[in-house]
Amino acid sequence: MALKGLLLFLAFGWADLLVNVVFSPYFPDIPGITSLGLALSALYFTTSIQRYRVFDIVRIAQKDIADSLAAGLIVIDAHDVVLECNRSMESYMAAKTGDRVDLAAFLRECGTDTAETEAFMAKYGSVIPERVQMELAIPGPDAVGMRHVLLDASPILSGTKELLGRVISMQDVTEIRYLVEEKNRQNEMLQLRNRELVQIQEELFKANLKLEQMATTDSLTGCYNRRFLMQRLEHEMAANIRYHIPFAVIMFDIDLFKQINDSYGHLIGDEVLFGTAEAVRGILRRSDLLARYGGEEFAIYLPHTNRQQAEKLAERLKETVESNRIVTGTAGLYISITISVGVLSVEGRQTPSEARESAAYIRHLFEQADAALYEAKNNGRNCIVGRKLA
Ligand code: GH3
Ligand code: MG
Ligand code: MG
Repeated sequence: MALKGLLLFLAFGWADLLVNVVFSPYFPDIPGITSLGLALSALYFTTSIQRYRVFDIVRIAQKDIADSLAAGLIVIDAHDVVLECNRSMESYMAAKTGDRVDLAAFLRECGTDTAETEAFMAKYGSVIPERVQMELAIPGPDAVGMRHVLLDASPILSGTKELLGRVISMQDVTEIRYLVEEKNRQNEMLQLRNRELVQIQEELFKANLKLEQMATTDSLTGCYNRRFLMQRLEHEMAANIRYHIPFAVIMFDIDLFKQINDSYGHLIGDEVLFGTAEAVRGILRRSDLLARYGGEEFAIYLPHTNRQQAEKLAERLKETVESNRIVTGTAGLYISITISVGVLSVEGRQTPSEARESAAYIRHLFEQADAALYEAKNNGRNCIVGRKLA
C-alpha cells in the first residue's frame, strides 16, 4: 500500500519533469503536476489507512495478549473508572469499560475481614500511591470449594509521580496455597514425630540410668553392690600402685545382728540395715565408696588415705553407728547396734607390679581386711583391728 502511494507520487513527479523540462519545446507549460501527484498519493494513504484500520492492529494485538492471560486484569484511571478489562477478569468481577470500580464494596462482597479490608483500602488510598496486595478466599466455580486469589493493585505514575491510574490484577493461587498448606502440614507432622522421638530418647536415657543404677547398687540399702566395688578397685589399683597413692579398705559387720532379726523380725532387721548404711554414708567423703559386701557386712574403699586417716575414720565410723538410734516399725521403736571393724591400709610401695593389677591381688586385700574384721569379732566385738600392707 505504501509502495503504491509512493509510485503514484513518483509517476506525477516524472510526468512533470518530462512535460515541463525535457520535452518543454513540444508541450505547453502545465503547472502543478507534482502537487497533484502529492495530493492524490495523500488521498490514497488516508483512504487506505481508513480501509485497512492500520493503527487498530496494535490495539487488537494488545487486547488479544491481555485476554490470553490467566490472571484477571483491569486498567483504571485515577478516579477508578475502567479503561480496559481482560476476559479472565469476568470470573472475578463484573466490570466493563466506563464502569467505576468500588474495591471496598468488592472486598466486602467477598466476605473479607473488615479490619483487613480497612487496612487494604487505607494503603490503596494513601497520599503517596504504593503497590498493595491481599489474598482473598472466594467461592470457586459452581460454588464448589474456595479458591484463593491474590489481588494486586499497582499505581501507574507520571514522570512527576502523579497518579494516572492503576493496574489491578487477580491471580488464582489456590494450587500454590494448597501446596504451601500441605508442606506446612508435613512440617508439623515431622515436628510432632521429632518431639515424640526426643521424648522416647529421654525415656530411654532415664531407663538406662535406672538400669545402670540397678546393676550397680543394692536395692535395700542404696549402697553400691559388691560387683561394682570390685570393678572400681580393678580400675583404680594400677594408678594407686604406679603413683604410690596410699589407700585403705575398711570392712565392718553388724554385731549379733541375728538377735535383732530373731527379736524384732526380718523387716525390722532390714530397716536397721538401711539406717546403719544411712548413718555411715553421712560421714564419708564424696570420693569414698561404700558397698554392701554381703548380708550385714559392708566394705568401704578410701582412696588417697593413709593408715592414720583410715583408722581415725574407722573410729568415727564405730562411734557414729553406736550412737545412731534407728527408728523402726510403725510403733517407732528405737534400735541401736554396734559394729566390728577391720581396717587394711596400703602404702602401695613394695608390692610386685604384676600382682598389684590382678584380681588375685584385690582378693588378697579383702582377705586381709576380712581377717582384721574376724580378729575384731574375736576381740569381743564393737572394736577396731587395723592391718597394714606395704
Ligand atoms: P556376729 O556378731 O558374729 O556377726 O553375729 P551375727 O548374728 O551378726 O552373725 P550371723 O552371721 O550369725 O548372722 C547374720 C544374720 O544376718 C543372719 C541373716 O539372716 C541376717 N541377714 C543377712 N542379710 C539380711 C538381710 O538382708 N535382712 C535381714 N533382715 N537380715 C539379714
Ligand atoms: Mg554380724
Ligand atoms: Mg556377717
